[in-house]
Amino acid sequence: MKAIVTGGAGFIGSHLVEELINRGFEVHVLDNLISGQLENIHPSAIFHKEDIRGTKAKEIIIKEKPDIVFHLAAQADVGKSINDPNYDASVNINGTINILEASHKAGVKKFIFASTSAVYGDLETNLLSESEVTIPISYYGLSKLSAESYIRIFHNLFKIPYTILRYGNVYGPRQLPKGEGGVIAVFLNRIKRNALLTVYGDGEQTRDFIYVKDIVLANIAAIERGDNKIFNISTSSTTSINQLISYLDKIHDSPINYVLLDPKKGDIKHSCLSNQYAFRSLQWQPTYDILKGLKESYAYIYSEESKP
Ligand code: NAD
Repeated sequence: MKAIVTGGAGFIGSHLVEELINRGFEVHVLDNLISGQLENIHPSAIFHKEDIRGTKAKEIIIKEKPDIVFHLAAQADVGKSINDPNYDASVNINGTINILEASHKAGVKKFIFASTSAVYGDLETNLLSESEVTIPISYYGLSKLSAESYIRIFHNLFKIPYTILRYGNVYGPRQLPKGEGGVIAVFLNRIKRNALLTVYGDGEQTRDFIYVKDIVLANIAAIERGDNKIFNISTSSTTSINQLISYLDKIHDSPINYVLLDPKKGDIKHSCLSNQYAFRSLQWQPTYDILKGLKESYAYIYSEESKP
């Protein structure tokens, strides 16, 4: 089987590429390295340094005729989307349209898209299911939601089978200390430098943190299952920032110092996605709890592979 992974030089994409290669796929990576890194790309993958918005990217997909396209390349930084909504929309909407058109022409058998919990916005609901209303509060959430709609309409018009995976807050090795959901990467990098951690607000805000290897397994499950459906990919449980610090205290084996600052404007207080539909229909469930995932991420930060 042949797969194209857009964003395969990035944090999540590089883990997916690795798994696909281990499973015997021929893997092509389309990435312009704007936030991804060359060192992240598996040596057995075929790398094309291209922008997903360009004609070259389109031509490569049409020529390679992959069985599966995993579309992960994106402008994934919420703050950047607020500062430059035009750029955010051009990558996340126009880029997706370009990859969809190419996938249609190439006769791709499955289109698997990396979406986000940011499409829901700041809802009061404790456990969000896929049928919940979507009222994004950032341009990033909006551009991802628009991309989802383009995928659905492309399917209606041209019958390209798709699966949309809405990830919770992903963490793990190779995550850069910025962008969406990067608080664990930020904390680990600060711990390594013996720097103070900063907590915005009272630290009681919670997130649904999901380990990157579980995200990869959800993508693999979507190859065969979940056609033309949208799934939350999450742990269905929450961890507060204060709990996160206490886990890190234990792993680090000495107290971690932090300061409390004013809450960040526009920050969501709680976020938790139900994974029941993915469990039933994709036959996927997370295999890492937060402590196990944190231990692996901590070990990575002190490993050779991690840069200072
Ligand atoms: P990342 O920034 O590490 O990866 C994105 C990759 O896309 C990078 O390698 C970057 O170079 C590439 N890219 C960006 N713009 C491009 C363009 N115009 N042309 C070609 N390549 C381009 O981010 P990530 O955290 O690995 O995110 C991967 C996907 O998962 C994204 O679609 C993101 O929206 C989604 N997601 C991430 C999280 C999270 O917590 N990290 C949560 C929900 C959804």
